[in-house]
Amino acid sequence: MPGNQYDAVVVGCGTGGSAFAIRARKLGLSVCVVDTKPRARIGEKVCGDAVPRYHFDRLEKEADITPPRGDELGQIITGMKLIGPSRTRMVKVHEDGYTVNRHEFGQRLVNDVVDAGANLLDKHLVLGPILEKGRIVGLRTKDKITRMERAIRASIVVDASGVTATLRKAIEFPGRERGIHPRDLGICYREVLKLKEPIDEPDILEVIFDRSIAQGGYIWVFPKSDTVVNVGVGLTMSLGTSPLAAYRRFIKRDRIFNGAEVIAKGGGIVPMRKPVGSFVGDNFLLVGDSACQVNPLHGGGLGYSMIGGCMAANTAAEALAQDDVSYKALWGYNHEYQTAIGKRHAALDVFRIMLNSLSNRDLDFGCSGNLFTEEDFFAIDKNGKLELSNAQKLIRGLRGLHHPTLMRSLMFAVKRMKALKELYMAYPTTPEGLDSWTARVEEEFEPVWQRFGKSFEKID
Ligand SMILES: Cc1cc2nc3c(=O)[nH]c(=O)nc-3n(C[C@H](O)[C@H](O)[C@H](O)COP(=O)(O)OP(=O)(O)OC[C@H]3O[C@@H](n4cnc5c(N)ncnc54)[C@H](O)[C@@H]3O)c2cc1C
Repeated sequence: MPGNQYDAVVVGCGTGGSAFAIRARKLGLSVCVVDTKPRARIGEKVCGDAVPRYHFDRLEKEADITPPRGDELGQIITGMKLIGPSRTRMVKVHEDGYTVNRHEFGQRLVNDVVDAGANLLDKHLVLGPILEKGRIVGLRTKDKITRMERAIRASIVVDASGVTATLRKAIEFPGRERGIHPRDLGICYREVLKLKEPIDEPDILEVIFDRSIAQGGYIWVFPKSDTVVNVGVGLTMSLGTSPLAAYRRFIKRDRIFNGAEVIAKGGGIVPMRKPVGSFVGDNFLLVGDSACQVNPLHGGGLGYSMIGGCMAANTAAEALAQDDVSYKALWGYNHEYQTAIGKRHAALDVFRIMLNSLSNRDLDFGCSGNLFTEEDFFAIDKNGKLELSNAQKLIRGLRGLHHPTLMRSLMFAVKRMKALKELYMAYPTTPEGLDSWTARVEEEFEPVWQRFGKSFEKID
């Protein structure tokens, strides 16, 4: 497009925006990345810091984004324990991964963005889009030091602004979801603690379900070394309860935290739901949290935002080569993400909604290994495996154990999960099918909310 300064301008130099920029530069696009933070503070984000190994397979290949190393690496992880309220029941899930030192990891990414030849405008707040004939053609920014405003024009504008979704909220495009419902947002509080005593298993992430502490959420204890842990609580925002209060209740109960030194603390918000239905508009792409590219079960989005960034950059390069950056030309990004990852996350979203409705007794039973097994559920995130035969096997077991309500909830959820997976596999190849596809997704979710939605209502 004549008069454009860049092929692509990106709001946000988080994990999603960085991966987009690095991949796009590799494909020869001119890129500008705008972030409100000063360069030295990019990567400072309240996070659980855990990321599975398998995300890096694609990231290394496409964007030379290698796993964390040196001072970016907290701890090498070999698995996760899902622990029930009684603390005696648990499921162990084997998964190689890392805890990262988020600031150092973010600094590596921003350095790679700049080294790849992208222009970084740090300390610049994006005020909003520049629109011409209904199309976004650039960004209005404000220098936070000089207060000077400027216009940056580009053929493609990328919203990688995180959960605030600065542009998704400001522009219209087919299938846009403007706001995210509070029941689909996680509100979190976490501290990084230096413990007095080393922990037993520094290579294992712990996720604890306990309604007496964290109603409508979970607690995590993620090791960063044998004496440093990232501990946090994430709660469904619609409940209106305080994650800080829940965190304090949790910390008090376990002696291991007595006398620990607080290295860092803070809160944050993360989308916890299926991805938004469409990530593309004319000249426009959504990446990362702004597109709800997270695992709905635990809000993990570091890997998905970077994968989303790579996919978006590939599509952007193809569209620019064809000299067509309309939403139709950018549609391939929607199709690739939704059929590869969206299908798993839509299914996990159903599982999340069901899980939220379970009592401590049910959760304990689930965490005993009879209900939440690696094979039956948690591997969905990695390989999309969910076979009804597994569920039927489970259901037989549950019948024997006299858990009829739980059994019925599970059967119901599994049916919906399977239907959604198929629906996402049939994500429309062209925009024309989006409305009817969206209606079918809503049809699948409506009974799920009807059945389990009460557990998301505000607690007085
Ligand atoms: C408490 C908590 C714990 C989490 N734990 C984990 C975990 O253990 N593992 C995991 O994988 N994920 C975790 N997540 C989720 C993960 O952090 C996000 O999914 C991921 O960071 C999303 O990356 P992003 O690039 O989309 O957004 P972000 O990392 O949020 O980056 C957005 C960037 O945009 C910039 N920006 C925003 N608005 C503007 C504007 N108007 N102008 C200019 N710049 C702007 C911001 O400064 C920021 O640098 C957690 C999230 C929270 C809140």
